[in-house]
Amino acid sequence: MQNLIPIAALNQYAYCPHRCWRMFCAGDFVDNQYTLEGTGLHDRVHTLSSGHREETWQVRAIWLKSETYGLVGKADLIEAQNGQLYPVEYKRGHTGDFDNDALQVCAQALCLEEMTGQPVTQGYVYYAQTHQRQPVAIAQDLRQRAIAAIQAIQTLFRTGQMPPAVYTPRCRGCSLYDRCLPQAAKKVNRYRES
Ligand code: SF4
Repeated sequence: MQNLIPIAALNQYAYCPHRCWRMFCAGDFVDNQYTLEGTGLHDRVHTLSSGHREETWQVRAIWLKSETYGLVGKADLIEAQNGQLYPVEYKRGHTGDFDNDALQVCAQALCLEEMTGQPVTQGYVYYAQTHQRQPVAIAQDLRQRAIAAIQAIQTLFRTGQMPPAVYTPRCRGCSLYDRCLPQAAKKVNRYRES
């Protein structure tokens, strides 16, 4: 049986493969303001419970798993309306320019489909900063990108080979900046290539 990968690793890999390697292969993690706010938010929503809110059935902090895709992870919230199940992922910030949150929701949807035998066509990301739910269509292209990310992470976990630390605008908000120093690495490499 293949090793299961954490659903949250998809989010980290899509954000930065080097960060994913540091967190899940090297066990290297430090908090910053953003990660602490995110942990606080998840602590508040990660209390296992279920019930109805008007016409919507809800279950919080439930484990999801897929043998087909080799995934496991805890969902913040699963809801059902009119017989249709869908995941809701909580994030501290606001809608970003990247698809890392959508990939995480898609991975939850893949698990939910396997566990229930029902298609999941929609998910949401709830952004605490704006108090808004951003719909995520579980469309074919998103599924394909999620599956490609799962395969890349499986290779990363199997080989343990460190992806390069490449400086991007995302580095500015990254809690691991002081560990990998991507700009310093860039300068050193530029010097070596000159
Ligand atoms: S600082 Fe940049 S390169 Fe380093 S882990 Fe964070 S996002 Fe990745």
